Amino acid sequence: MNLQPELLVYELSSPGRVGVALPDCDVPVTALPTALLRAELKLPELDELTVVRHFTRLSQKNFSIDTQYYPLGSCTMKYNPKVNEVAASLPGWRSTHPLVGAEFSQGAIELMYRLQDSLNKIGGFVAGSLQPAAGAHGELAGVLMIRAVQVARGQAQRTTMIVPDSAHGTNPATCTMAGMKVVTIASDSDGAIDLTALKAACNDSLAGIMITNPSTIGVFERNMKQIADIVHAAGGLVYGDGANMNAIAGILRPAELGIDVMHYNLHKTFSTPHGGGGPGVGYVGAAPSLADFLPGPIAVKDGNKFVMRQPAKSIGRLKAFYGNFGVLVRAYTYIRMLGGDGLRKMAENAVLNANYLKARLEKVYPVKYPRRCMHEFVAMGNFVDGIHTLDIAKRLIDYGFHPPTIYFPLIVPEALMIEPTETENKETLDAFVEVMLKIAEEARANPELLHDAPHHTPVGRLDEVSAARNPVLCYRG
Ligand SMILES: *Cc1c(COP(=O)(O)O)cnc(C)c1O
Repeated sequence: MNLQPELLVYELSSPGRVGVALPDCDVPVTALPTALLRAELKLPELDELTVVRHFTRLSQKNFSIDTQYYPLGSCTMKYNPKVNEVAASLPGWRSTHPLVGAEFSQGAIELMYRLQDSLNKIGGFVAGSLQPAAGAHGELAGVLMIRAVQVARGQAQRTTMIVPDSAHGTNPATCTMAGMKVVTIASDSDGAIDLTALKAACNDSLAGIMITNPSTIGVFERNMKQIADIVHAAGGLVYGDGANMNAIAGILRPAELGIDVMHYNLHKTFSTPHGGGGPGVGYVGAAPSLADFLPGPIAVKDGNKFVMRQPAKSIGRLKAFYGNFGVLVRAYTYIRMLGGDGLRKMAENAVLNANYLKARLEKVYPVKYPRRCMHEFVAMGNFVDGIHTLDIAKRLIDYGFHPPTIYFPLIVPEALMIEPTETENKETLDAFVEVMLKIAEEARANPELLHDAPHHTPVGRLDEVSAARNPVLCYRG
């Protein structure tokens, strides 16, 4: 039993108590520099064990995939097999210094070479770069490559990128950051790209399109080939946001649908823990016409040696040294453990799990685009007057589940975006459904229960705007 559940270290402070007993000083005593001493800082006086318990207790207040179900749409919060961690922490990988040179890091470069090769096979690309540190970083690489290709073709006036209204927020942001102009086009009633709107947006200033397939509403863009043909005929290039590879890896090679350059999030599909802002990799794969423009250096085989080399017309470096190497070891281990058939099964199960949840929930939580979904689907949380998606999300916390993504994508009102991933078993999915159905009943019978949720967390319902703008980060006794 926890005898001091909510007492913080400040309340437990006792004057004169110390955490460590230092040996007698055997050097001359010197005063601390007064500039560094702040009399107003009232530090708690505690023993070591109390401090350990305090921080351990704090750490246990976190949600994590290793402790709770995390159906956060668009994030692919899947379980990351521990063997990947074992591989990434092998001393040979972990301790290699990036400045030792190719001669002494043949194994590390060979791993990068093999990983590039596997990812190229999965996506259908001829080359790729492991440099970008995130999906958004990969997008930036891709759009800068498109820009460089257009300039090389003598088409410097092509500075417009088409982005569908269902896109992830990073897509328009990336285009703007790369100096492009964004033209948004609408989705049709099926959640697909409106081809008439697409054709109307194609002109001499078109640099390319940025498209996510499966899209951010979890549906497969059936007209992908036609879209690519229209854009190519108009002189544009096709950027694929491949963050949703979890639904298609091992089944479909995006390059064969006409995608010229694409990033895949190794920290989503290829199993690296993420969510807390830790290191990631947004691998960029490229078709032949863009391969020379990739950011570098990339791993190449020269005779029987492996070397890092800058592609001929590279847009340059995007990251110090060789990117986030630990993520590369995890992705390589993951792909080798699964193999081609395993990858396909992974994607099939991700889609199956999403459709199972959708089928069990859609009678209560309406789904705006009701066709069969891919790895995720978007339900709506406003099926009872006075109840909003936010209330449902907060109530889920009381039941120990991480809420789905909410109010995104923007084209679905009161969106609840659910991505179960392939790693959850049927019992967990069923438990989640039961809780969602129970919350729907509560919404009708006892709406206050939802409005006041969460009830069992260290802090209750926050005003999210003031919490973000004026965060209280210090203890105020
Ligand atoms: C997650 C995601 C991104 C951005 O990836 P980061 O690694 O978070 O930068 C881009 N597009 C889609 C569709 C995503 O799901």
